[in-house]
Amino acid sequence: MKNYTSELLEQWDREYIWHPFTQMQEYIKDSPLVVERGEGSYLIDIEGKRYLDGVSSLWVTVHGHNKKDLNSAIEEQLNKIAHSTLLGLANVPSILLAKKLVEITPPGLNKVFYSDSGSTAVEIALKIAFQYWKQKDGGAFSKKIRYISMGEAYHGDTIGSVSVGGMEMFHDIFRPLLFDCVHVPAPYCYRCPLGLAKPSCGMACAQAVEEVMAKSHHEIAAMIIEPLVQGAAGMIVAPEGYLRRVRELCSRYNILLIADEVAVGFGRTGKMFACEHEGVTPDLMCLAKGITGGYLPLAATLATYEVYQAFLGTHSECKTFFHGHTYTGNPVACSAALANIKLIEEERIIGGLGEKISFLEQGLKRFIGLAHVGDIRQKGLMAGIELVKNKGTKEPYLWEDNIGHKVIMEARKNGLVIRPLGNVIVLMPLLSMSIPELDRVLDITYHSIAKITG
Ligand SMILES: *Cc1c(COP(=O)(O)O)cnc(C)c1O
Repeated sequence: MKNYTSELLEQWDREYIWHPFTQMQEYIKDSPLVVERGEGSYLIDIEGKRYLDGVSSLWVTVHGHNKKDLNSAIEEQLNKIAHSTLLGLANVPSILLAKKLVEITPPGLNKVFYSDSGSTAVEIALKIAFQYWKQKDGGAFSKKIRYISMGEAYHGDTIGSVSVGGMEMFHDIFRPLLFDCVHVPAPYCYRCPLGLAKPSCGMACAQAVEEVMAKSHHEIAAMIIEPLVQGAAGMIVAPEGYLRRVRELCSRYNILLIADEVAVGFGRTGKMFACEHEGVTPDLMCLAKGITGGYLPLAATLATYEVYQAFLGTHSECKTFFHGHTYTGNPVACSAALANIKLIEEERIIGGLGEKISFLEQGLKRFIGLAHVGDIRQKGLMAGIELVKNKGTKEPYLWEDNIGHKVIMEARKNGLVIRPLGNVIVLMPLLSMSIPELDRVLDITYHSIAKITG
């Protein structure tokens, strides 16, 4: 027998939970949506009401909720062992997954360091890059201790990942705690930081990167980038060739390239990894979100052999990477990830995305006709619809307008769960979503924007 009712759950949610990225004083005024189950593309709440999941449960779900193959892979592993540490011991699923990740990621990445979230995957990459230069060639490069980060970037919420972030609203208050980075502008064409008009903007942004590198490379350890799409910034899509250019510049100026594929990895942009679009191998690559198909917390930081070998030495040389989280390489999470990748391959998920991506692209076209839609950005199955107060002047909605939130609450009434990023309405459908389901996501979103922005 259940010792709770839906009313009690709602009450206890308000009473006991501090929700992330949420103004609780306002949250508790609304009735919370308490999810109890999932089924394919749907979330089902405690009252049995069904909602399309338009945000892939925060950008993680790949094959849908309650997917039989993923469930059974987890059960199978549970019946063997739930956790055993990677500190000094090895376990079966973490080995198999590491081998698989090396096979499917860009050539040259061949060492896997596990952790549990996108933020930790980024922290690890930053620390590896730092220590790498300290140890390479007997410390000849030990002045390389800073990072180049991008305007509008988001790499997670821990102090290191916030330090390389560029979102004022989330990051400003912590400024005194953060290490100082060299910033380069985001290739945000709609509000071009360089004041340029399309189409010259893309390579001008890369030019800004080159200027910074030429000046400061002797003190720069690494540049961190969200390849192709700056997700949390509101789906800022980089112009073609930008990533490849950044790779070339990093190589030329002896700077490690960290690709944060936490959001874009595992098919999201139409290829398994975003770096593949431009034939780029980063020196370090961060994976999380979609890695377990949206089932369990797991992350991986991949490194090249060149980076890894700077950490080799005798015990007494102390070149060890002294970093590790308690649940690193958790066998159940690794089993889920293995099953996720197996399904992506067996069900030819990547090959099937083309049709869905074009459908989304076509469907988004009519949004530009709405009076308050300023810009529409899309790469693969990730899209952002930027709402503006005045289309002509691009005057943004004010924070206090809370326009994104109003739109998603309207969508929720109509059976769609989405989540905004400020004034940008994000669509992040599951890769497994059918065309009719995608159509419904677009339809509800369109009418919600039309109704709220009038
Ligand atoms: C979500 C995200 C992160 C942080 O991942 P968490 O698992 O939330 O810590 C880092 N980088 C990018 C690009 C992300 O989208």
